[in-house]
Amino acid sequence: MVVVFRRQKCLSFSCGNIVDNLLIQGCEMGEKSSRDVWSNFLSFMRGQCSRAEYENWIAPIQCIEDRDPITLQVPNVFVQGYLLENYHEALTSFFPKDKKGKPLITFLVKEGKERVKVAHSHTPKSGEGEGSHAFRFNDSYTFDNFIEGPSNQFIKSAALNVAARPGKSYNPLFIHGGVGLGKTHLLHGIGHFVQRHHKKKQLQCITIEAFINDLVSHLRNKSIDKMKRYYRNLDVFLVDDIQFLQNRLNFEEEFCNTFEVLINSNKQIVITSDKPPGQLQLSERVVARMERGLVAHIGTPDLETRVAILQYKAEQIDFTLPSHIAFYIAEHIYHNVRQLEGAVNRLSAYCRIMNLKIDQGVVDSALSDMFQAPPRAKVSVDRILCSVSSMFNVRESDLRGNSRVKEVAFPRQIAMYLAKELLRDSLMKIASAFGGKTHSTLLYAWKKIARQLEYDEMLRRRIQMTRHNIEA
Ligand code: ADP
Ligand code: MG
Repeated sequence: MVVVFRRQKCLSFSCGNIVDNLLIQGCEMGEKSSRDVWSNFLSFMRGQCSRAEYENWIAPIQCIEDRDPITLQVPNVFVQGYLLENYHEALTSFFPKDKKGKPLITFLVKEGKERVKVAHSHTPKSGEGEGSHAFRFNDSYTFDNFIEGPSNQFIKSAALNVAARPGKSYNPLFIHGGVGLGKTHLLHGIGHFVQRHHKKKQLQCITIEAFINDLVSHLRNKSIDKMKRYYRNLDVFLVDDIQFLQNRLNFEEEFCNTFEVLINSNKQIVITSDKPPGQLQLSERVVARMERGLVAHIGTPDLETRVAILQYKAEQIDFTLPSHIAFYIAEHIYHNVRQLEGAVNRLSAYCRIMNLKIDQGVVDSALSDMFQAPPRAKVSVDRILCSVSSMFNVRESDLRGNSRVKEVAFPRQIAMYLAKELLRDSLMKIASAFGGKTHSTLLYAWKKIARQLEYDEMLRRRIQMTRHNIEA
C-alpha cells in the first residue's frame, strides 16, 4: 500500500506539531507500510487523548495485517465504534478512504477468553462483580440542605415523593435544567433517603460516563452478563447527566434495555439531564416512555431564593453575611447555585486572610470577576410587552389589563414567563409592573408556560424569536 502524507489535510488538527513531525518523517521516508502508518497514527493519538482514554480505547487495538487495506483487531465492537465515531477525521487523514469518505480499514473482533488488561481504574471500578458498584453519595447533598424556592419547589416535592415510595409514584422522574442548579444534589438526596428508609432496596446511582466505563470494563472482562444481572436487579436506579448518552449508539442500546427492564417491573428510575426528553437524541421508544413519567424542570432561582441560599451556605461555614450584602451578591450572580456557593467560600476566605470587615467594597474586590454582566439595561417589562404584543398581535394595554380572553391571557402569560426569565428583579416587583398583578399570578403563568415548552416545539420557537427581539 502506498500512503503519502498530505500536509494540507493533516494540519487541520489541533495538535499540528505532532502531525507536522509525522509529516516530515513521512515525506523523508517516502512510502510507508500499513504497520508504519498505524504506528504513526498511534503516536498522533497519544497526543490527542488523555492517557486513560488512550490506554482503554486505543492501545488494545492491534494491527494484524500489513496489507492494503489495513486490518485492525479490536477487542469488541464498542472499541471499533468508538474509534470510528470519535476519530473519523484522523483516520481518513492517515488511511485511504472509500467513495463515501469512510476510512478503508478492515476490522476483526477478537475471539477467545483472553482478557485485555484495563490500564486505569475509573469510578466505578472495572467490573469484577457486584461489589465493584459501591457508590458514595455526597454527604451534603441531602433534602435538608436543599433550599426551596419557586423554581425548585415542585421538583423537590416530586423527588421526596419518589424517595418515600420508590416505584409507586412518578416513574421515571426526569429532572432537567441548566448547569449548577441542583439536579445532582436532588438525585443524591433521593439516594440518601432511600438508603436510610428503605434499607433493603437495591440502589445504584451512576453518571452516564461511569455507566459507559463500567460497560466497557465488563465487555473487556467478558462479564457482561454479570453486569446485566446487577443493573436489572436494582430497585432504584439513579442516573445522572443522561445527555452524555446521545450519539453513543453502542452504549445507548444497553442502557435502554436496562431502562426498559426496570421500568416494566415498576422499579424506580430517576434521570437528570440538561434538556427535556423530547430534545434528547435517544431511542424514540425510551424517550416516549420517559415522557410518560414525570418530567420536571429545575429553573434558575429567583432573587429571594438566591439570597436564602447564600445565607444558608454562609451559616454552614460560620460566616456572618449581612442581609444587604447577600442581596448585593445575589443581584450579580444569578445563573448558577454552584457559583453562589463559590462566592460565599471565597468571600469568607478573603475576609479572614485579609482581616477585613465585610462591606460592598470588600465584596467587589473579592468577587467582581465572578459577577455576571447585569441584564442589558434595555430589557424591561415595557420592552417585553412591546415585543410580545407585536409577535402575538395583541395590544400592550390588553397585556397589562385583566381580560381573560384566551387570545390575550395566553400572550400575557408568555410575557410574564419572559419577564421572570430575563429580569433579575424580585417576583413581586415584576408582577406589579404588569398592571399590579400578584406574585402568585406571575408564578402560575411562568410554570404553565415552562411546562408547555417541554412538549410544544412551535411555542418554543415563537418564544425564542420574541426573546431574540427583546435582547437584540
Ligand atoms: P447540577 O447537577 O444541576 O449541575 P448540582 O446539583 O451539582 O448542580 O449543584 C451545584 C451546587 O449547588 C452543589 O454544591 C449543590 O449543593 C448546590 N445547590 C444547588 N441547588 C441548591 C439549593 N436549592 N439549595 C442548596 N444548595 C444547592
Ligand atoms: Mg450534575
